[in-house]
Amino acid sequence: MRLKVKVTGIVQGVGFRPFIFRTAMKNGLNGYVRNRGDAGVEILLEGKEENIECFLEDLEQKKPPLAQIYKIIPSSLKGKNEYRNFRIYGSSRETDLSGSIIPPDITICAECLKELRDPKDQRYSYFFITCTNCGPRYTIIERLPYDRENTTMRDFPTCSFCKSEYTNPLNRRFHAQTVACPKCGPKAYLTTEKGESVACKDPIREAGRLLSEGSIVAIKGYGGFHVATATTRNEPLIRLRKVKHRRQKPFAIMAPNLQVSKSFANVNSWEAELLTSCTHPIVLLNKNEHYYLSNLIAPGLHNIGVMLPYTGLHHMLFDEVDEPAFVMTSANPPNQPIIKEDDEALKKLEDTVDYLLFHNRQIAYRCDDSVVRARGKHQVFLRRSRGYAPAPIMLREKVKHCTVGLGGELNNTVCVLFENKAFISQHIGDVENVETRDFLENTIKHLTHLTKSKVEAVACDLHPKFTTTKLAYDLAEKNGWQPIQVQHHYAHTAALMAEHGAKEIVGICCDGYGYGVDGEAWGGEILFCTQVSSGYERLGHLQKQILIGGDLATQHPLRVVAGILHGQVNIENWLLQRQQHFPYGIKEIQMILHQLEKGSNTVETTSCGRVLDAVAAILGVCYERTYEGEPAMKLESVATKGKDVLKLEPRIKGDILDTTQMLLEIFENRQKHTKADLAYSAHTYLAKGLATLAIEKALEKEVRILGFSGGVACNGILTKAIRKIVEASGLEFLVHETIPPGDGGLSLGQAFVAGFSLSGCT
Ligand SMILES: [Zn+2]
Ligand SMILES: [Zn+2]
Repeated sequence: MRLKVKVTGIVQGVGFRPFIFRTAMKNGLNGYVRNRGDAGVEILLEGKEENIECFLEDLEQKKPPLAQIYKIIPSSLKGKNEYRNFRIYGSSRETDLSGSIIPPDITICAECLKELRDPKDQRYSYFFITCTNCGPRYTIIERLPYDRENTTMRDFPTCSFCKSEYTNPLNRRFHAQTVACPKCGPKAYLTTEKGESVACKDPIREAGRLLSEGSIVAIKGYGGFHVATATTRNEPLIRLRKVKHRRQKPFAIMAPNLQVSKSFANVNSWEAELLTSCTHPIVLLNKNEHYYLSNLIAPGLHNIGVMLPYTGLHHMLFDEVDEPAFVMTSANPPNQPIIKEDDEALKKLEDTVDYLLFHNRQIAYRCDDSVVRARGKHQVFLRRSRGYAPAPIMLREKVKHCTVGLGGELNNTVCVLFENKAFISQHIGDVENVETRDFLENTIKHLTHLTKSKVEAVACDLHPKFTTTKLAYDLAEKNGWQPIQVQHHYAHTAALMAEHGAKEIVGICCDGYGYGVDGEAWGGEILFCTQVSSGYERLGHLQKQILIGGDLATQHPLRVVAGILHGQVNIENWLLQRQQHFPYGIKEIQMILHQLEKGSNTVETTSCGRVLDAVAAILGVCYERTYEGEPAMKLESVATKGKDVLKLEPRIKGDILDTTQMLLEIFENRQKHTKADLAYSAHTYLAKGLATLAIEKALEKEVRILGFSGGVACNGILTKAIRKIVEASGLEFLVHETIPPGDGGLSLGQAFVAGFSLSGCT
């Protein structure tokens, strides 16, 4: 019998062909296996029918750990048997199929780590030790198929030892494209901030020592540079915050292992699983009562972002030091993408770091670390990047048209949606300047090229002034794609529909700001969404509140408080007592009060983020926003230890949830209760109000599914409280599981809406 089998999925770069080879040998079959240019593999089998059946069973059940099979397509062949053995061929150059898949970078595996530590091994202490089951992928692949010559490993021809392993079907590095050793692979070296080389025998362990002594060191990794420093000393952290212009924004840290992480943070079994998974994301962990690292790492927050070493290099940094963890933050100037070029690092980090630890392999594509937070038995993505991107998210249903979503303006990703595969890019960042915009445009090119997608439409936000809106129209004109603008909160909610295969949904969508249909500032919305081109309906929202000075109010939440409570209480004295938190002091307060009287220089918003900001300011938790979400995040941190003391019932007038009364209650009770209890009470009020209003609307619409999306859905207290109420009402409750609730998930929703909007217009 002769059978040709095509396998699609994540099957290149994950040890799939050696597995096929061994399985064919085991079942006594002849033929071949080869990679296809579309990222699938093709297998030809010759032998007895029952043996081929056993082979197909093994194929599904015993596949390598990193492989994901989407489809097995067999087709029987006529003619005589041609093969006398089983072979692994090079790649075919098929280019007829779209939707190819590129594997993400994978953490060093246990076997490689063991060899790294074994003095008798040829790769003892080799920092880029990898195998077919681990190592970089996306960040080194320039084009498909995934063969060494199409990656930046091309610059490092294998030595005879590595070659012998690469060509031995029974070796675990058989066809490992990243195989390398101290002799033939990339080398590491240390320089000063000026690029002068530092003579030392062991640059990686030397860098570790320098870090523990208080130096700031840039470290080149798989997908870009990190800036690292000690975690138990304040001095380098003060210095780092000053030069990075990050006064409060938390830094992620890297701990050498799980055990050390537990010395300063609570780690439950699910969090431990996330930390040690083959993707090794940054996991937000609650600081424990013994927390002893510097308070400058995550100031004012109850949690801290921790990851474990994911390359041999990272492990070696800790070898000769006592430091319990290192700060490990992406090296990028404000609003620019993570640095990936050596000369760029020297130029841009000269004033930031004392030393740089380089390796001489080029980074093909930059990729920041992923950030997740455990919630029950699920994970919430705060950033979906290294280890995940650009492996597609598989949707329940196919879309008819291939579309691209460009995201919004902050925390951007792009998404190429092809059939039922959503290829969401790595984290791109805030698209406010030319570097990030170029990164975004290149990523679209790269993703559409790698996946060979024939794009029909490009989707973007409704905001007329977003960089991505302009880019969408440029791309549309250049490529003949159809431009489609999608309202911000509609896109968020549509992403929920895409992820869960829901046909219609009533979505609670809360964030800081999104452009509404009439140019209004939305951000606390209840929307009805369906998969038809007419789209969505706004069913309800938070009360409109005044922002004095627009964006200034976002930065200084005391302005939001003034806007809401003006006319309710005599706010003047209270503001004057806080004059040091206004950049221009008394004068600014007088100006604000004057503008409020006159009703000038104000905009209105239904933003949920601003309401939380106002609570944070009333309670003195945060008076200034130095990074996105800061007041609300700090408020949640305070609320974690609180209870609902105010027991406020939601005030719903028509389709609108009142927020003024709640803020007034918080204000008037501010000396009677603890900050924690008041912070928690505010959360409870919003959760109850939003859930009650949304349930009422869902019942009216006869919709059984309710969802929660938008940046505020990262908030654990709100999500838990809303879920409880919704599920008690008998409705189904959906949250994001594979993409971020915030703007990192926007591109999927946009591409999804564009997909069915196109179907609607003929
Ligand atoms: Zn390995
Ligand atoms: Zn070698």
